[in-house]
Amino acid sequence: MATRIRLGTSRSSKECLTDSRLSGSGFEKCMQCGRCTASCPAAYAFDDYLPRVVMSRLALGLTDSLIDAVWRCGQCYSCRARCPRNNSVGEAVLALREKFLAEGKISSEIKAARTLILKNLYRRGETFLPQMMTDDLLREFGPATYGRCAGNLERRARLGYEKEDARACRIPEGAMAEIRHILNATGCSDSDDQK
Ligand code: SF4
Ligand code: SF4
Repeated sequence: MATRIRLGTSRSSKECLTDSRLSGSGFEKCMQCGRCTASCPAAYAFDDYLPRVVMSRLALGLTDSLIDAVWRCGQCYSCRARCPRNNSVGEAVLALREKFLAEGKISSEIKAARTLILKNLYRRGETFLPQMMTDDLLREFGPATYGRCAGNLERRARLGYEKEDARACRIPEGAMAEIRHILNATGCSDSDDQK
């Protein structure tokens, strides 16, 4: 039976607005120097993402203008390490994502990606399976990554890896049971048809 994943979230939009990650991100003391942007791999990869702008939009109360942008962040925290004011754009992004999820303000593309990632997590214990790394996606990561990784699926098949396994050995059943318990408890899966 197919696994269905619903778009669950356990927090209300109001709770998300008082999230300490948002207030603690430091957007109010941001001086727009741009050091975060200079070190951000997402800003390098995507034309429409600038951490410095995340902070200025927050300061101006224009959070809804970040509905699509927040999904570009890779949560590497380079911005945090380099900010002269000890701010953290990555933290603000996490809080904003939860807020937009709670309000249902996510694009169909992000919704589909989230559903697929949760489904993979439930079924295999992995968020990102090798078969998801298509040539189109690799191109988004730039020419160096594309040159290094294009053709990986064929190489994996020649080496005898299963299409759906991101590693050579399976995740132990006990750990899988814990993962599924967490997904069920946090409302990120349906309980009636997970196999
Ligand atoms: S590095 Fe810090 S102060 Fe500079 S723009 Fe980024 S968040 Fe603002
Ligand atoms: S945490 Fe996000 S915003 Fe900060 S440097 Fe990494 S990708 Fe960029």
